[in-house]
Amino acid sequence: MELARASIMSKTVLIPCPLCRSEKGFRANNTDKDLHIKKYGELYAGLAKSEWRVCGNCGFVHQNPRPSADDLNRFYLNSKYHPADNSEAWENAENYLEFARWYYDEKIDYALKTSGLKQGAVFDVGFGQGGVLKLFANRGWQAYGVESDKTLLEYAKKKLGQSYL
Ligand SMILES: [Zn+2]
Repeated sequence: MELARASIMSKTVLIPCPLCRSEKGFRANNTDKDLHIKKYGELYAGLAKSEWRVCGNCGFVHQNPRPSADDLNRFYLNSKYHPADNSEAWENAENYLEFARWYYDEKIDYALKTSGLKQGAVFDVGFGQGGVLKLFANRGWQAYGVESDKTLLEYAKKKLGQSYL
């Protein structure tokens, strides 16, 4: 696959490999498991599911094509990634943390067990409501992260009391 091909119908763009910057030699790595993009409206307009590629140079698996950086910036800055589906239920932070423990604790346990890491610092890129960071902090880890969605960032700060974000 070469970068010259443009996505038809959607506004997504082909990008070089995010890891090594190679612009050719991509192999398809599509899956039926990625069905979330329909809910993102115009961001993926015209696509039923995202496309994934394996970089022929370094092997990095990544979404490609993808929305432009400008479109993604607008999308996150307007808090459209996690619309207020559960905002009423999660107004009480303990309700959200109950969900976070149910959803993430087992995954954290697995990651720690398989990595052999016991204690340290964790950095979550795109931490959402901040549940994973809160759970790591509760385990004594130094927790850091970035979140571009200002509604989610405010939730993590105000509801979870995460002053280290
Ligand atoms: Zn690469």
